[in-house]
Amino acid sequence: MRSIRPSHLALITGLVLMPAPAHAQVSNAVRPWVKVDGATIALTHVKVLDGTGRPALPDQTVVIAGGRIQSLGPSATARPPRGAQVIDGTGHSLIPGLIGLHDHMYYSSVGGSMKPMLFSYPRLFLAAGVTTIRTTGSVDPYQELNIRTAINAGEQVGPEIFVTGPYLQGPGGGIGAMHPLDGPEDARRMVKYWSEEGVNWFKAYTTISRAELAAAIDEAHQHGVKVTAHLCSVGFREAIALGIDNLEHGLLVNTEYAADKQPDKCPNTSRGELYAGIDINSPDVKRTISEMVQHNVGMTSTLAVMELSSADRVPLDPRVLDAVFPDARQALVNWKTQNGEKTDPVQHAALKKAMQFERAFVNAGGLLGAGSDPCCLTAIAGYADQRNYELLVEAGFTPEQAIQIMTANGARILGIADRVGTIAPGLQADLVLLRGDVAAEPSSIRNVVTVFRKGIGFDPVKLTESVRGLVGIR
Ligand SMILES: [Zn+2]
Repeated sequence: MRSIRPSHLALITGLVLMPAPAHAQVSNAVRPWVKVDGATIALTHVKVLDGTGRPALPDQTVVIAGGRIQSLGPSATARPPRGAQVIDGTGHSLIPGLIGLHDHMYYSSVGGSMKPMLFSYPRLFLAAGVTTIRTTGSVDPYQELNIRTAINAGEQVGPEIFVTGPYLQGPGGGIGAMHPLDGPEDARRMVKYWSEEGVNWFKAYTTISRAELAAAIDEAHQHGVKVTAHLCSVGFREAIALGIDNLEHGLLVNTEYAADKQPDKCPNTSRGELYAGIDINSPDVKRTISEMVQHNVGMTSTLAVMELSSADRVPLDPRVLDAVFPDARQALVNWKTQNGEKTDPVQHAALKKAMQFERAFVNAGGLLGAGSDPCCLTAIAGYADQRNYELLVEAGFTPEQAIQIMTANGARILGIADRVGTIAPGLQADLVLLRGDVAAEPSSIRNVVTVFRKGIGFDPVKLTESVRGLVGIR
């Protein structure tokens, strides 16, 4: 056997001379979705909306190393480090990874059942640029917990997941996967159990009583777990007084302005008319907003799902039709045909008021995040998050503010702003490279080229292709 020089041996075995694998943590299960995995990556000539809300920075170079953002600076002076994988971002925008605060892992379609989408949704979220989600009402918490573990271990592709427990729903309100609570002690029992199982948040729902909500919040806080809510039986100000941490959906679920509101009951008033007629500058509405701000209660904007009440406004996105299974596709086409021609001025006005409420909340110093609520119809994982951006801009936020709402603010609500949510040196490299100028043309949010999570660039086309026709099935 002929002798092998040590350097030769090293080449063969990869021990010494071969560069270290760029990202040893990329497993075989994740590898098929990886597009960019240089140890050092320089994105040059990109327009940066950094998540802080400050004006977009033109022609920047962002360097990623070791899974983190190493530097951000004008391309004119910032040279890519020697050996870096250089990606020319001319004509592209770079934003932080989106943080979806109301990003369920289920979809209800034909027949209405709340079906877990544990195969398709993690891929679709990531493909659309959503790098962190809070599931905000779980129909299958154990599977969500297990997927969280698998993604954290690098054994599965997907966003970082903040798992919520099962819905905390009140008596008589049990639908789908929801357990109808039987009083405050039942709420404590449920919260204690799932907190000990490892959920990060809970979501209270539409028929919960004040006593059950109070018990749930108290028990959750004892376990270091937070509570948000999609309310109806309880008003925003009541929930704030009980110590809630976050409120979902905004104006269109705050029943405290209804004349027939009874304690612990959803009012019968026509919601559309109530909200369409509301004065956002009235003392009542101002009081709600100021109490939210005072008590540091953030709010989750879900404009994409709210828009579904006005079918004529909703674009029938071909990407959504491609993603859903055939029966659901037909249901969507039927829904649009039956409802898309009619304009309901009341629903349009209510949506406008919801947008104004969000503006007023932010102007008052409120912390607004966003989520897609990919529950149904055209609201599916990822694409509905992107639609939120277009709607936030329509609501009158600047593009920079809209990105801040969808990134940094979500990180603040989740308590992870020191790690993700903005583009700054030292932070985890969760980034989305978009073709086009997302500040000038909001629909550029749909043009995802590469999604970086922890510095690894994923391929949105491959991810999307792998789940084509599966939403509604798995
Ligand atoms: Zn929801």
